[in-house]
Amino acid sequence: MPASPDAPTQLPAIEGWWDHDDAGVPHLIGGKCPQCGTYVFPPRANNCPNPGCDSDVLDAVALSRRGTVWSYTENRYAPPPPYPSPDPFEPFAVAAVQLTDEGLIVLGKVVEGTLAADLKVGMEVELTTMPLYTDDDGVERLTYAWEIAK
Ligand SMILES: [Zn+2]
Repeated sequence: MPASPDAPTQLPAIEGWWDHDDAGVPHLIGGKCPQCGTYVFPPRANNCPNPGCDSDVLDAVALSRRGTVWSYTENRYAPPPPYPSPDPFEPFAVAAVQLTDEGLIVLGKVVEGTLAADLKVGMEVELTTMPLYTDDDGVERLTYAWEIAK
């Protein structure tokens, strides 16, 4: 791909899992069943997970930007290939967060500089984004992440 002044310098590592509003504030995208109201994340277009519901359509919706820590851990080992990881590897925390409005639990990385010792179950966190890796075209690939709510 030829470099051009319009070439993006940052792109999501995974398409369709989160987006920004006009002010640049990120939110996750989930699937919501129009029949029974069940939410799913990561988003998908069909197959409601509610066993009592026969809907085969899920609508894409913006999810709450805030939630509370439901569980967390710290990863002290580099993931095996093909998963990208910085070299040298830095330990990072991972949190399962219960979203405020949906009650859905979403697993995600915690921002750099916040480790398991800084987290507590029930703590309020909010969504942000952080660089995950730089691809072969020099584009910084971003992922969503949790940070302690201000
Ligand atoms: Zn449903």
